[in-house]
Order: sequence, then C-alpha cells, then structure tokens
Amino acid sequence: MTPAAHILQIALASPLRRLFDYKSQHALSPGTRVAVPFGHQKSVMGIVIRTIQDSSTPADKLREIHHPLDDQPLFNQELLALCQWCADYYHYPLGEVCQLAIPTLLRKPEAMPQATITRWQITEKGRTTPTASLKRARKQQQALAHFQALESISPEQAKENELSTATLKALVEKALITRQEQVQVLEPASTASPATLLKTPALTLNSEQQQALTQLKLNTFNAYLLNGLTGSGKTEVYLQAIEKVLQQGQQALVLVPEIGLTPQTVSRFEQRFTVPITTVHSNLSDKQRFNRWQATRTEQAQIVIGTRSSIFTPLPKLGLIIVDEEHDLSYKQQEGVRYSARDLATVRAQKRDIPLILGSATPSLESLHNALGGRYQLLTLTQRANQQAAPTPECIETSEPQLHPKTLAAIEQTLSQGLQALVFINRRGYAPTLICQSCGWISQCPNCDSRMTLHRSGGAQLHCHHCDTRSPIPHQCPHCNSSKLEPLGSGTQRTEEQLEQLFNNTPVLRIDRDSVSRKGQLERLFEQVNQGEPCILVGTQMLAKGHHFAKLGLVAILGLDSAFFSSDFRGAERMGQLLTQVAGRAGREQHAGRVLIQTQFADHPLLQQLIQEGYNPFARTALHERQATAMPPYEHLATVRCHAQQPQLAQKFLTQVRRRAEQIAPPHTGLHYLGPFSASMEKRNNRYHFLLQIKCASRGERQHLLQQLCTQLENDRSPTGLHWLVDIDPQEF
Ligand code: ADP
Ligand code: ZN
Ligand code: ZN
Repeated sequence: MTPAAHILQIALASPLRRLFDYKSQHALSPGTRVAVPFGHQKSVMGIVIRTIQDSSTPADKLREIHHPLDDQPLFNQELLALCQWCADYYHYPLGEVCQLAIPTLLRKPEAMPQATITRWQITEKGRTTPTASLKRARKQQQALAHFQALESISPEQAKENELSTATLKALVEKALITRQEQVQVLEPASTASPATLLKTPALTLNSEQQQALTQLKLNTFNAYLLNGLTGSGKTEVYLQAIEKVLQQGQQALVLVPEIGLTPQTVSRFEQRFTVPITTVHSNLSDKQRFNRWQATRTEQAQIVIGTRSSIFTPLPKLGLIIVDEEHDLSYKQQEGVRYSARDLATVRAQKRDIPLILGSATPSLESLHNALGGRYQLLTLTQRANQQAAPTPECIETSEPQLHPKTLAAIEQTLSQGLQALVFINRRGYAPTLICQSCGWISQCPNCDSRMTLHRSGGAQLHCHHCDTRSPIPHQCPHCNSSKLEPLGSGTQRTEEQLEQLFNNTPVLRIDRDSVSRKGQLERLFEQVNQGEPCILVGTQMLAKGHHFAKLGLVAILGLDSAFFSSDFRGAERMGQLLTQVAGRAGREQHAGRVLIQTQFADHPLLQQLIQEGYNPFARTALHERQATAMPPYEHLATVRCHAQQPQLAQKFLTQVRRRAEQIAPPHTGLHYLGPFSASMEKRNNRYHFLLQIKCASRGERQHLLQQLCTQLENDRSPTGLHWLVDIDPQEF
C-alpha cells in the first residue's frame, strides 16, 4: 500500500464548528470539492481548506478521502476567504457556510453536472401547420410565426419577442414545438467594445449625479454611501458606474432586496446594456440556479442582479458591487447562518480592492454613522430628476383605523384629475382579528402569542401569519355562543372592499403577499398601473420598494402608529424608512404629488421632524439617541437565542449560558449582559423563545467572547428538544 502523503483539512456540512482531517494520495488545492466518508455516511461532499503537516487525529484514526470531484478548485481564494470571514464573524461552521455559497446541485458528492440552456425547437408538425389555424389564439399564432422563421428560440429571444411562458407551453402541448435542454458552451462573453456596450444611450446626468460618478474611483476599495432622495436618479448613477466597469472588461454585482417585487429595475438594466445579464433569486429551480452560477463563474454573464445569497456568486472579474436599498431588512438572513449580505459586500469589496456603492433614500443608521465618521464616502443627490420637489406629508389626526373622510376626498380629487392614488396599510388580510361583541373573546392562535388574521378573499378563514395555522371562521363565539362576531380593525382586503364600494367606477388593485402569490400576477398588476388610467392601489410594504408609478398623484398612509411604541430599539428608524419610501412613490413625473398620513400622534416630535425636515435630520436625531443609550452602531450586539417546548427549559439554559459567559468575560462598562428575557413573541408555533443579549463596546471583545462561548456550548450536549443559536448584529428580538 502506498502511504498517503498528504493531510488535508476539510470543511463538511456539520453543525460542529471545526474542520476534519483526512489523508489523501494527491495534493489538492484549497477550494477543491472532494468525496469523503464521514461518520456512518459512506460518502459526503467536502471542501479542501488547507494542507497541514501534522494532524491531532491519531494516524490510525485518520480516514482517507475517496477522490476529488472536480479538476479545478470550486472556490477561488477570494470566495474561500469570504466564507471564512463569514464563518468567523457569525460563529457558524465553515462547512455550512461553504454549502450555502454553492448551488444545491454541487452539495452532493457527485461530479459537476453540465450546464445547460433551454431552447424551444419547432417540430415537423409545427413547420407544416399553417399559422392561420391558430387565429383563435392570437399570441400562439404570432409565436408559431416566429418559430417558422427562426426554427429555434432561446429564453432571451422569447423575452425580446414577448412570447410568454404560457404561450410556449400551449404550443408544446399542441406538439408544434418542443422544449430542449442543450449543453451550454461556456466561454467568456466577448468583451463588448465601449462602442457596442449600450443598447440605449445613457441619460445626461444632472450635476449632482455627475459629481457622484466623478468621485467614484475604480480598481481600489472605497465604500460609497449614495444617499439620494427617492426618484433622484440613483439607478442612473448605478447604470453609468457599471458602464465604466464593463468598459474595463470587468463584471458587476448588484444586490437588490427582492427581484420579484421590482421587475422594472431588471428591465432598466436589460434595456441599457448589450452584455449578458443574469438574475439570481430564490424562485429558481436547482438546475436554473446552477446554470446561472456557471455562467457567471465562466464570465459569460457580466452583470449579476441578485438577492441576498448572490453575494457569494463567483465573479472572476468582479470590479464593482452595488447594494441597492441598503437599509432593507431582507439583506439579513434570519435563519441558519444569520449573515448580512450588505456587510459581506463590504468585506468582499475590501478583499478584492474594488469599490462598493450602498444606495438608499433612507440609509440605515449603521451606514449613515460610517459615512458621518468618514469611513464611507458620502455621495448625495438632493434633487429629484424630474425637478419636482418631493411632497411634504400632511397629517390627518384620527384614532380610527378606517379611511378618514379627508383621505376619501383627496382620493376623489386625485382620480378626477386623471391620476392614480395609493393607500398604504401594512397589514394583509381583512382584519387583524375577530372579536365577540358580547364577551370580548378574540381569535387567538392556539400555537402562538398572536391573533389570527381574518381573511375574506382567497378562501375565507382565520390564518395565523406566524405559524401558518388556518381554521374556518366560527359562526358563534366559542366562549359564549353569541353570534355577534365582528372583524376588529382593517387590513388590505377590508380597505379594498371599502374603496370598491365608494369608487365603483374605478379599478381598485390590491397588492400584498396574498394577491400576488401566483407567478406573473404582480407584473400584470403593474402593467395595468403603468397604462396610466385612474385607479386606486391598496397594499402593504410591497408597494414601498423602489417602484416607479408615473401617474401616481396621492399616497395615503394608514396604521403606522404602533411603530411609536415598538419595543424594538430600531422601531423609529424602521418607521421613518417605511414612511419615506412609501411617500416617495408620489409625484415622480410631471405631477407634484400629495402625501397624507392618518395618525393619532400628529404632534409626535419624531414624526414632525421627519415630515418637516426629512429623513436625514430625523436619522441624526435617532443616532444621537443611540449614542446616548450606547446602542448600535455605537456599541455592538449579539444574542444567544434559544427555543424549547417548555419555557423553563429555555430560560434555565440561557441562565447557564449567561453564567458561563460571565466567567469568560466578566461584565464591565464596555460589556453588558441582559436577560434571559422572552422574545418579542414568546410562544411561536408551540415553542417558547428566549434570548440573552450581549452588548459590547468592542467588536473584538465580542468576537473573542463568543468564540469561546460557542466552543464550550458545543462541547456539552444541550438538553433534548432545545435549540440554540448565536445572532451577531441581530435585527429582530
Ligand atoms: P432612484 O433610483 O433614485 O429612485 P431613478 O434612477 O429611478 O431614481 O430615477 C427616477 C426617474 O428619473 C426615472 O424615470 C429616470 O429615468 C429619471 N432620471 C434619472 N436621472 C435622470 C437624468 N439625469 N435625466 C433625466 N431623467 C433622469
Ligand atoms: Zn363571546
Ligand atoms: Zn400561530
């Protein structure tokens, strides 16, 4: 037997925060995928992290790898370093982070599949069928004509020619065309020359946009906070920054909160550039995700637009990272490794020595603090591109959750001017709860500390938005048998119903998670809005996300009052962001626009400052408050969260955790422990959630403490049925 000459440290998908040593006949580079035996499993996929001289595992216990899975390392040094940083900072096993960073198809101990592309190919029947035979189905008829001319069509061509998936499917069903997966030829896209880069010419920048672009330095690390009002032309700055990067033959990565919600953004990129653009989001099949991953890795795609996890996309020529709406909560993963894609973007840009643009009309206090402290360069856009001043919101003081007569009158007036109105209410469903008028019973979720929302459309039922329990609407009170059960409060459905009754000649379009759950529904709704006819939009924060509605003349905001009493220290910041973003949908083109806020607290100083002075002064006040209370971004938080079936078990566990932590690092003026206390919703899905909060003036000290704490906690077995995790820079409590 030949002695295995090499000892490799390998990252495996295991909850243990450590690497595993293996023997290997071959020298293998870091980042290479290998198949190895692990525990009782015959073969699992691992990633080589490094080669070492001596292992602490006794030689006779050291197992040997089966074989490498690919010829080339899957991770380059840059991505491996990013994964390592992520594992260290968030105290999560490197093996799990590496798994997250690659497409599902590559997580198995199998050779890399071939990347394929879909094409639709005309069949013999399709060639000989006269298009006139489809004259009852206009779109299919047109599609068949395309196929008869072109023989085969790629997804891009289908998109260009506006052939919908439904149409193509219909033709497949009629056996006129077939869908084929072809092996994709992967080679770098030929670098477009500066002259052929653009499909449509760039806009002439205004002086602020120009200044922002001039300050941007390529090929060196700098973080820029592009703080521009809604509608001030941030996207145009992104587009022209990307153009510069493409001219150098580099790739660009654009992170967006949710692609499905902002199809307009993607199409603006597609309309501008001739180079291949790839979008990456959660709505892809494993195969699609893999194909796109391959396309970017091989430099076929030159621009990637993606959500949170696309921060790990391999881009060998990456020259610029943009994080749009950088304040958005969706950049923080709330399960598994609780990373922030925005913060990883900073790390990645730094490691690659390239610029990073964080864009927002309502920057997070963290980013604003960095900009004010000079760590980020601040670029500001204070003018709307259309020269219209952003409207100053007007308050309507009321304690009623329903639409106020003044709001209704404003809607009426807006519609009569031929414009559209938007009603924002951040609650989906018909009403937040059902109440018994006789005894005061309310529809409580049996599994959570939460009420069940009443839904009327899409199947009338009670639905818990936290654990997904659904039940029929009772006809009688379960407590006193009274039949006087009434909805309490208003959600989007009830508001929609009310508006439909009052404005029966005007379409009312509801946009929330329930109304757009089916694919393509949101696009259809937006299409209707963009035709520009008067209509009323009713929706949740889905409507706050970067949409551009040319004909929107009025925004009415309801039900934000609970934010004033939020127990979350970020409550005010979130309220300010949401309000500014929603209000920013109004008056984006020729019309000045009007914004109304229905509130009980019209005189609240924070709200008044937000309205009178705008988001930035408001944010500075909020920053002062954070400084006074030594909260982030001035000090740094971590929580140890835990849940169990018995609350006592969770509490007792965290009390022990606190004791241990205090032994590792006794509290002092720059280190505080708080808790254990119950999570904002203690009982959720029949489990009890508790947390221990650690607040530290120094990131380094926090890092050191948690490192040791995690190692200790991992070494003893936690009680059965109890789950714990560490959340660094937590966003929810
Ligand atoms: P933001 O991303 O800041 O919300 P956008 O980039 O979407 O703003 O710009 C708002 C509108 O103004 C868009 O319709 C855009 O085409 C237009 N716009 C942006 N910059 C310019 C410019 N320099 N000249 C003319 N129109 C512009
Ligand atoms: Zn009752
Ligand atoms: Zn529930």
